[in-house]
Amino acid sequence: MKNIIIRWSIFFICLFVVYFVINAKVHAIAQANLQSAMVVHLPQYTKQELLNDATARMKYMLTRTKGVKFFIHKVKSRENLWGIAKQHGYSVHTVIGCNPQMKTYNVSINQKLLMPSIGGNLHPVSPTDTWQSIAEKYNIDEQILKDTNYGITDLSKEYFVFIPGKKPAVDLMNESMQEKYALRDLFRSPLAGRLSSTFGTRRHPVTGKVSKHGGIDIAVKTGTLVGAAADGIVTVASTNVGHYGTAVFIDHQNGYITHYGHLSKILVRVGQKVRAGQIIAKSGSTGRSTGPHLHFTVKKNGVSLDPLKFLW
Ligand SMILES: [Zn+2]
Repeated sequence: MKNIIIRWSIFFICLFVVYFVINAKVHAIAQANLQSAMVVHLPQYTKQELLNDATARMKYMLTRTKGVKFFIHKVKSRENLWGIAKQHGYSVHTVIGCNPQMKTYNVSINQKLLMPSIGGNLHPVSPTDTWQSIAEKYNIDEQILKDTNYGITDLSKEYFVFIPGKKPAVDLMNESMQEKYALRDLFRSPLAGRLSSTFGTRRHPVTGKVSKHGGIDIAVKTGTLVGAAADGIVTVASTNVGHYGTAVFIDHQNGYITHYGHLSKILVRVGQKVRAGQIIAKSGSTGRSTGPHLHFTVKKNGVSLDPLKFLW
């Protein structure tokens, strides 16, 4: 009798051991499957792939943000950066700030751009970054920043976080774009209007001779308000500036000088300090001019540069 009890006991103990071993194995396999499933859902990219490829960046960001969706805008014919940004309800800063692959402001047909559902930009995470340091850099509430990027558990392992409602940091851009973006901050457009003549070689509308045009012409009706392109000091304000006719020159004290020509009325005097955007004159058609327009020149250290490098 005793013998039978011992045998059965041993049998049950063995049964339990086998059960636990099998159970542990099954659990381990399930765990491994779960991990491989997660890898599929969270594709692994290198930082370079994410910088170059808008689609990869979209997939990456979608797993990390809440309340912000990302999608691809494929550029259609006749579209430009400004129009595309406007279609989605934000400024070009957002498109630039989410597309570090861009090298210029020009877009080409079928080019893929990463678009967020709200305005903002991607911040490239550096090894020294903390949520607090990023929040301070962009002057944004730390909790809003964390809430927006709720899918991130370990910031040090991330390539990007999304900063809602802010302008891009230059550290995201490639060198070419950094240069252009910095220039954009330097000047603002003296007025809004149709560009009637670009910078460079052209046939002169009055003389008929082929010559170099040292600035751009913006066609606007006489009397349109002209604003200073940047802070500076008025160095010329005269009704008799050669073929410019009535003109204002501003020295921006950083190697840059701007000219505003063919004006109808001057509203500043020589030596006056002006702020960016301050109204300095009214446009006209004085001097050598075929019709009402503003001639606008940007010079750096005496050399004329294409103003469209600076103006959007
Ligand atoms: Zn001109």
